[in-house]
Amino acid sequence: MAKTTFAIGGVHPDDSKLARACAIEVLPLPSVVYVSMAQHLGAPAKPVVSVGDKVLTGQVIAEPGGFISAFVHSPASGTVKAIAPFKDLAGREVPHIIIDVEGDEWVEGVDLSDTLITELPDREVILDRVKACGVVGLGGATFPTHVKLNPAPGSKADCLILNGAECEPYLTSDYRIMLERTKEILVGAALMQKALGGCRTVIGIEENKPEAIAAMRSALASLPYSGIEILPLKKKYPQGGEKQIIQAVMHREVGSGALPISVGAVVQNVGTSLAVYEAVQKNKPLITNILTVTGNCLPVEKQHNYLFRIGMPLSYIAEYAGGIPKGAAKIVSGGPMMGRAISNMEAATVKGTSSILYLSEESTRRKLESNCIRCGRCAEACPMGLEPFLLRRLWKAGDMEALEANAVQDCIECGCCLYSCPACIPLLDHIRQAKGAVLGAIRARAAAAKAAAEANQKNS
Ligand code: SF4
Ligand code: SF4
Repeated sequence: MAKTTFAIGGVHPDDSKLARACAIEVLPLPSVVYVSMAQHLGAPAKPVVSVGDKVLTGQVIAEPGGFISAFVHSPASGTVKAIAPFKDLAGREVPHIIIDVEGDEWVEGVDLSDTLITELPDREVILDRVKACGVVGLGGATFPTHVKLNPAPGSKADCLILNGAECEPYLTSDYRIMLERTKEILVGAALMQKALGGCRTVIGIEENKPEAIAAMRSALASLPYSGIEILPLKKKYPQGGEKQIIQAVMHREVGSGALPISVGAVVQNVGTSLAVYEAVQKNKPLITNILTVTGNCLPVEKQHNYLFRIGMPLSYIAEYAGGIPKGAAKIVSGGPMMGRAISNMEAATVKGTSSILYLSEESTRRKLESNCIRCGRCAEACPMGLEPFLLRRLWKAGDMEALEANAVQDCIECGCCLYSCPACIPLLDHIRQAKGAVLGAIRARAAAAKAAAEANQKNS
C-alpha cells in the first residue's frame, strides 16, 4: 500500500484509539438545550426567535451575522426560555438561545429516512442547501462550508481533499462515521466535487485505519462517481493539519499567511462531507455531530462514540456516560495535542465538538522545566518549519517585530515542539501568547492605517 505524508517535522505519539470499536450510540434529548450563537468561525449568528416562541426541531433560530457566518437551527422542539449570555467551555460569556425541550417534532420538508440518494442536483442548489442548513467545517476550524465551496473569482480548485486522517490520539468519531456512514460521506464528496467544478477529489486516511480504507474503497466502487480516490497516508502527527495534508496529497506548499485555495486546494473533513450529504440530499440542518467520550482513566466499557444534538450540556453527556471518572485530573475538548481544557462542564456542545477526553494525573503532570540545551529537537519536529526555541526567546524579550519576521503567526499550535523538548519547556504556551500579542499588534496597525486613510480622505 503506497503511503504518503508531509515533508518536514511531525511526531509519533501513541494513538490510544481506545473507543475505536465502539459503535455510534444516539444520546437521548435533555430537558433543556443551550444553543450558542458563536459556534462557527466569523460573525456570531443573530437570533430570529423571541422568548416564549414555540420552535420545531430543525427550525432556523438564528441567521448569519455577516458574510463569514452561518445559520443556526433548533436541536429539539420546545419553547424558547431565554436569549442570554451563557458560559462556554472556557468560561467566556457567549450569547445563547436556551430552549425548554418538549419533544422532537421536526419542521416540514426534512427527509428522516435512511434511503441513500446518489443523484446530484445542480451546483447552485448544492451551495444554497449547504448554506441554508448551517453547514460548517467539522475538522476543528468550523469555517462556513458554503463560503469554502465557492472560491472567489480568479481562484480555482484543482483538488478537493477530504480529511479522514484523524491524527489526534484518542479521537475516533471520524473513524466510526467512515465505517458506519461510508456511502453518505462519498456522496457528500461527490456533491462538493460538483460544487467546485468537478476537480480531482482525494480522501486521505491514515494507515492505522485499514478497515476505514477498505470500507471506503469498496463503497466507492459501488457508486456512480469518477475522479474520486482513496489515498492511504502515513501515520504521523499532525497529518490532518490543513497545510500538511495538502503537502502530502498535492506536493504543494501553502505560503506563509496564504489560504489553501492559493495552491488550488480545498480541504474538508469527512464529518463535513456527511453534513453536506444530509443538508443537500435530505434537507437536514446541521444540529448533530459525533463525539468520543474517552481517556486513559476510563475503563473500556465506558468508552463511547455518541451522536449528540448541539446544545446538550457536556455535564449531561458525562452523566449519561457514567459520570466523571475518579482518576480524571484534566478534562479536554478535542485531542490531547491540540484540544482545549474544559473549565466549565455546564457548557453546551457546539457543531464542532469532537470529544470529552479524561486524562489521568500521571499523563498530564508537567515535568520539571530545565534550561534549553539547544538540541534543536523542537525545530526538527515543527511541521511549519519554525524555530520554536527562538520564538520563545523573542517572546521573553518582548521583540514583537522579530516574532512577526520569524512567522510566529504560521504556528498551527500542534504541540509537536512541546512533545519533543527534553527540557520540558512549555513552548506551546509561550508561542500561543506570542501569537496573540502579534495578532493584536497587526490589528492595531491595520486600524491605525484605516483611520489615517479616512482622515486623509476627509481633508482632501
Ligand atoms: S506548536 Fe507551533 S511552533 Fe510548535 S511545532 Fe507546532 S507549529 Fe511549530
Ligand atoms: S527542544 Fe527544548 S531544549 Fe531543545 S532546543 Fe528546543 S527548547 Fe531547547
